Amino acid sequence: MIPTRQQLFQKLFPNEPSYRWKQALSGLFSQAKGWKEVSAFPSFLREAVEKDISWISVQVKTIEKTKDNETIKSLLQLTDGLEIESVLMRNARDAWTICISSQVGCAMRCAFCSTGAMGLKRQLSQDEIVDQYRFWQQYKIQEQIHGRISNIVVMGMGEPMANYENVRDALNILCEYTDVGPTKITVSTAGIFASLDHLLEDTLWPPVRMAISLHSADPLVRPRIMPSTPYDFFDHLRDWTKAYLEKQGNRTHHLTFEYILLDGINDRPEDAKKLITFIHSIDSHRIRVNLIPYNKAEGDLRSSTKKQRDAFQRLLKESDIITTLRTSYGQEISAACGQLAGKS
Ligand code: SF4
Repeated sequence: MIPTRQQLFQKLFPNEPSYRWKQALSGLFSQAKGWKEVSAFPSFLREAVEKDISWISVQVKTIEKTKDNETIKSLLQLTDGLEIESVLMRNARDAWTICISSQVGCAMRCAFCSTGAMGLKRQLSQDEIVDQYRFWQQYKIQEQIHGRISNIVVMGMGEPMANYENVRDALNILCEYTDVGPTKITVSTAGIFASLDHLLEDTLWPPVRMAISLHSADPLVRPRIMPSTPYDFFDHLRDWTKAYLEKQGNRTHHLTFEYILLDGINDRPEDAKKLITFIHSIDSHRIRVNLIPYNKAEGDLRSSTKKQRDAFQRLLKESDIITTLRTSYGQEISAACGQLAGKS
């Protein structure tokens, strides 16, 4: 396992006071371009850290932009040569959302996702997750791109709940050292209950928003498109959702169910009814459904037509379920949801 910057720092400078690492973190999120510019450090320490600890753990290999420059995808190389993708997207608030990865590849093998087809190569470290934000901050300065990064979605390559501690620790750093508040950060998961149950009890888990990649409320259909689905998935999800919403007991905190609409698989009126029945069985108005047009990735799945999407959304709205239809960004550069696969 690659040691984190903090582990290296503590190993190399065991006699430094504990506040030094906080100074180091402040430096990493400042305008400084290297350890030598971290002014809070005494000069001997700046030189020593510069020599032994890397300033950033991701290096840009390629950048692709949509024609309108509203979506930018980076292929980032890690210190061991593996690659991940990360995306910067202009959002409706005239600011920017970044979509960051949590693993190299993914073991979940969802049928609609290019990352799943890669298999899992390895977990990303806390530094590699945090540094995707730092990379985009630096890129924006360098390219003179105006508007702040206002939102972070952990929806890039990988299943965040399968890399729980590194994701949690990275999110805590991002919450503390950036101006992106926890309710502007969303973690999306296919539903790893060992981690989701732990999260309910974990006092270190930050109050970020969660999104469950549901994609079907039919116990026969979901395992076909998401083979990681356990046999008791829906019972467990119902119990977990109730417990989660009970714990996050305020009106601003909702839970999102994400639903990619696939032609003839999960977009029929009977599929909408199963979804409505499942949500009503949870009995909460703090669930939202985010309908997502399918972005062509691996396999022979097809996107639902606009007519099918509108009909599906209408049925949900008629049943008092708050539903949004996500705008898809970055399809022309394979940067849209489900298309990230680390291809140069
Ligand atoms: S959709 Fe998410 S969980 Fe499923 S294979 Fe892709 S990255 Fe993994």
